[in-house]
Amino acid sequence: MVNIILLGPPGSGKGTQAALLSGKLNAPHISTGDILRRAAGTELGSRAAEYMNRGELVPDSVMIEMIRDRFSQADCAKAFILDGYPRTIPQADALADILTGLDRRLDLVLNIEVPDAELITRLSARRVCECGATYHLIFNPPENEGVCDRCGKRLYQRDDDLEESIKNRLSVYKKQTQPLIDYYGNMGTLVTVDGSGSIEQIADEICAAAKS
Ligand code: AMP
Repeated sequence: MVNIILLGPPGSGKGTQAALLSGKLNAPHISTGDILRRAAGTELGSRAAEYMNRGELVPDSVMIEMIRDRFSQADCAKAFILDGYPRTIPQADALADILTGLDRRLDLVLNIEVPDAELITRLSARRVCECGATYHLIFNPPENEGVCDRCGKRLYQRDDDLEESIKNRLSVYKKQTQPLIDYYGNMGTLVTVDGSGSIEQIADEICAAAKS
């Protein structure tokens, strides 16, 4: 099963799990957050950063256009792992239209559940590198403080991982994204996994769901 959405609150480990699954299933990892961050310096990037830094969602019209464009690229012709899209019901409806137009269907929606208190601890201790590597100051620190193990660049804290932004992202998630759990639950494509274990444990659980 390779037409997969990863759903879950910020800090649930969606990005980490999507990257692992992408390698195991040989399917492209499509992270709308990464696409927006890579657009820094362009008009889209600066418009999006205003929303992102406040922990708010970028407007649906922008996101739907972006995902439509991404699906027109050859690498997602057979498979995809969506990470961070959809985040609203209109985005999910638009994705359904795009897939119908391509005569494809969604195989699986993985919902990663993590308690709020743990999400806040995880996000405030997260440090990232521009190469895409992610660290946790306590559970997964880099070998040398502040420096990426993978490429040697300086690690930084995302603006939206600052406390005020984190709180806003969690409340936006509850209001706008959580309704997707029922949306996909009613379609019968949803599997919920406990996201509070180790990265490897969760990856095994997700892989088992994706292969069943
Ligand atoms: P992420 O890296 O998935 O946590 O996304 C970082 C930020 O990018 C989010 O807090 C939003 O501001 C924005 N973003 C990413 N994906 C979407 C989406 N599908 N809809 C709206 N905003 C998004």
